Amino acid sequence: MPLQIVTVPCLSDNYAYLVHDPASDETALVDAPESGPILQALAKRGWRLDQVLLTHHHHDHVEGLPAILAAHPARVTGAAADAHRLPPLDQEVAEDDHVSIGAERGRVIAVPGHTVGHIAFHFPDSGLAFTADSLMALGCGRLFEGTPEQMWDSLSKLAALPADTLVCSGHEYTLNNARWAMSVDPGNAALSERAERVRDARAEGRATVPSTLSEELATNPFLRAADADLKAAMDMKEAAPVEVFAALRRSKDAF
Ligand code: ZN
Ligand code: FE
Repeated sequence: MPLQIVTVPCLSDNYAYLVHDPASDETALVDAPESGPILQALAKRGWRLDQVLLTHHHHDHVEGLPAILAAHPARVTGAAADAHRLPPLDQEVAEDDHVSIGAERGRVIAVPGHTVGHIAFHFPDSGLAFTADSLMALGCGRLFEGTPEQMWDSLSKLAALPADTLVCSGHEYTLNNARWAMSVDPGNAALSERAERVRDARAEGRATVPSTLSEELATNPFLRAADADLKAAMDMKEAAPVEVFAALRRSKDAF
């Protein structure tokens, strides 16, 4: 039985995810931006929270944790590399370590770039990847700590997951990301079509995440830094993908 996911909007533009295994009745939470909406989403379904998986240390991903743990004494997993600045962890993990929800195993993928200790969680049997502020819908996280090389390497690992993977990212930034993406990749028909769907979804107050990896591969400029058409649009035909990625990141920062 595949894992069920509930997307929980938090704060002004964050998303947390509840991941529920119907077979074992176990529930995990990915990131804890704010306690209220998360506790409500659990109560509404009568779920008890067993564990919390943290992607990175930024306050908008961990701030709700104390109040959530007060209501549900769950075990907390986060990156060993950032244990010193994450909330207290019960389990410290690194690349290729495993986490489990019920009988389903997830793999930890190190995705430095936004922060040096950022991790993602991939659950292959259910086709889910929790990417928070690494790979985002039509975007990627800002490089607060890492280098373009690190983020390009991180995104390349995520891009290599099965194309039907659902990408569960951490923010509702997609409308702005779409406007920027159209400015750097104007000839991409799949992108214009997606941008229109994103506008409709936001006009109706619907979330634009999760997205599928296949649509990110076709439309997210940051995953297309090696694509000949995008390189031509950037006037960087001869450049290495990582240089194109770095130029795209600079362009988005200035947008
Ligand atoms: Zn962050
Ligand atoms: Fe964030």
